[in-house]
Amino acid sequence: MTERKMTCIICPRGCRMTVKYENNTLIECKDNFCARGPTYAKNEIAAPTRVLTSTIPTDSKTVPLMPVKTSKAIPKEQLFTAMKLVKTIRAKAPLKCGDVIYKDFMVQGTDLICGRNLKV
Ligand code: SF4
Repeated sequence: MTERKMTCIICPRGCRMTVKYENNTLIECKDNFCARGPTYAKNEIAAPTRVLTSTIPTDSKTVPLMPVKTSKAIPKEQLFTAMKLVKTIRAKAPLKCGDVIYKDFMVQGTDLICGRNLKV
């Protein structure tokens, strides 16, 4: 059995939890303030995922960078490859906050979406 400290990143409280697990199965989770902590720990042990956030260049003269993020969390081990792909993407106006910039980004059903409006 393995025991380790883990910080829950689901909310800003950032509980510093103590978790015990074996063969990628959560055995015990302590020091979590709410029930989302063990769920986070379970996923983090079995298959950690993260929402990717970044910026991409635009074709606008007034807004040079567009904040972007994935619509869902993607496997943590794909983040490095995902950042390489993000560097090849450019935002073309007009765009609205929430528009899909890149459909099925890295994972089918997960899109790269823009984080602000971009006028022509
Ligand atoms: S365990 Fe609950 S309260 Fe603590 S950081 Fe996670 S979501 Fe927030």
